[in-house]
Amino acid sequence: MYRTNTCGELTIRNAGTNVTLCGWVQKSRDLGGMTFVDLRDRYGITQLVFNMEKDADLCGQARRLGREFVVMAEGKVRERSNKNPKMPTGEIEIEVTQLTILNRSELPPFTVEEETDGGEELRMKYRYLDLRRTSVKNNIILRHKVAQEVRKYMDSIGFIEVETPVLIKSTPEGARDFVVPSRMQPGTFYALPQSPQTLKQLLMVAGFDRYFQIVKCFRDEDLRADRQPEFTQIDCEMSFVERNDILDTFEGLAKYLFREVKGIEFKEPFKRISYHEAMELYGSDKPDLRFNMRFTDLTSLVKGFNFPVFDTSEYIGAICAEGCSGYTRKQLDELTEFVKRPQIGAKGMIYVKYGSDGIKSFADKFFSQEELGRWAAAVNAKQGDLILILAGGKKETLTALSELRLEMGTRLELRKKDIFVPLWVVDFPLLEWDKEEKRFFAMHHPFTSPKPEDILLMESDPGKVRANAYDLVINGVEIGGGSIRIHDATVQKLMFKVLGFTEEAANNQFGFLLNAFKYGAPPHGGIAFGFDRWVAMFGGQDSIRDFIAFPKNNSGRDVMLDTPSPISGKQLDELSLIIKTEN
Ligand code: ASP
Repeated sequence: MYRTNTCGELTIRNAGTNVTLCGWVQKSRDLGGMTFVDLRDRYGITQLVFNMEKDADLCGQARRLGREFVVMAEGKVRERSNKNPKMPTGEIEIEVTQLTILNRSELPPFTVEEETDGGEELRMKYRYLDLRRTSVKNNIILRHKVAQEVRKYMDSIGFIEVETPVLIKSTPEGARDFVVPSRMQPGTFYALPQSPQTLKQLLMVAGFDRYFQIVKCFRDEDLRADRQPEFTQIDCEMSFVERNDILDTFEGLAKYLFREVKGIEFKEPFKRISYHEAMELYGSDKPDLRFNMRFTDLTSLVKGFNFPVFDTSEYIGAICAEGCSGYTRKQLDELTEFVKRPQIGAKGMIYVKYGSDGIKSFADKFFSQEELGRWAAAVNAKQGDLILILAGGKKETLTALSELRLEMGTRLELRKKDIFVPLWVVDFPLLEWDKEEKRFFAMHHPFTSPKPEDILLMESDPGKVRANAYDLVINGVEIGGGSIRIHDATVQKLMFKVLGFTEEAANNQFGFLLNAFKYGAPPHGGIAFGFDRWVAMFGGQDSIRDFIAFPKNNSGRDVMLDTPSPISGKQLDELSLIIKTEN
């Protein structure tokens, strides 16, 4: 028998018992006549002790153990004289009577401890060693726990987990597909799913009624920070439902997960706001509502006073930073630099200080105290507050003001990691105009249903049509999104027409779905959640990478497997992939 116990479970109650433990040598220390070894496994760390006087041979053996050696130690549990209250096993140690080396280890390239000396790249290359570190290991265990809770809840409300294929058909309408060449049918390709969207809709046609799956999805996008080319979704679909049925069902899931995983109880229903309102009030379709700082539209109030910046702007918006009227010149310059960064793109920032000596702005000569007083009233500013104003084109200014709002939220420490504010954003626009391709694209995907009252606008003013689509947003992060689907062939045809598809092109790409819809598609809708992101949020971190056992780096490489990598000429040949070389 290798072991009687794990390295994380022995306490003072076990004192006096004989045990056998297995694990990795985290570190060892020689203190004169004694040698101490920290033995680690998944469950924790237990201190082993060897006494030179009692058994010089054994002690010598312990002294020769290298870091990360795999050992089996037999001995007696005893109370420690020097207790460590921070460790669950900190009151005991094992007085070892027999030590077996099960395997040796080369000197690891970095220390396998919380405070490691390994840089990011090195830890990625030796990910299996990094995974031995408590925090990384705990992230993966948290991921497991969340997945189990998702399955428990979904099962409890009648959802069936169905696996959908990984080798499917390319549908260029979304992001870029990863493709897999077919050997048996030269010149043809499978695509890896960007999501099982069409398949889950087919499951509704099949009558499964309630489907979910924790599923890998693949998108060949230029990697922005914290995106992975393969990621995991909790993918869901339901039949005979309207929007609110879906929101209620998945609000239930969200509340259950918060309760089971974080011990947080949400008594109130999640807020629901429209996309339009989110943009007007926060300049973002994923507002962080841990703090208020809503926008005030000052456009009509401040135009017409010969202040050129305002008079030439389409939109002038303000936020009120409570208690910040004492900001120094330097702090204000920093904020101005912040909004002028190319990623944010504002031309400048105007501020109004509501100090104890009145309301002051550098545009004083254009605006009287009375006018400034009106601005302050409009943004609900009190004495002690600072009003920050941006002006320009409406869309760009809303976005820039949103960044400024988040920056102020961060500076004022209003974005605490342990506070969670979920909300639903609903009624997204159905279509988005693409300037380069000069055509509309579906903002969500082509199967998203327009709001029934907007269908009439589909041909006359497509940009105005709202979709029956929704996102779950938590703390400024889009955690999930979905929609009620089109199940009516006429509306689907209209949608393809607006997207610029000929009937033939629509049939080529989505014929399988359109065909299925001829055989009784129920009204249906669904949602998918970014599982990695949700777990990272529960883990209190921004980056999803450390919640994935074997992630890719920022350039989409797996530096441990050293891939993507070339394949042999023989493989290329079998796949009928000819690489042209210049000679
Ligand atoms: N398939 C969609 C996505 O991946 C989600 C949905 O509409 O259910 O974004």
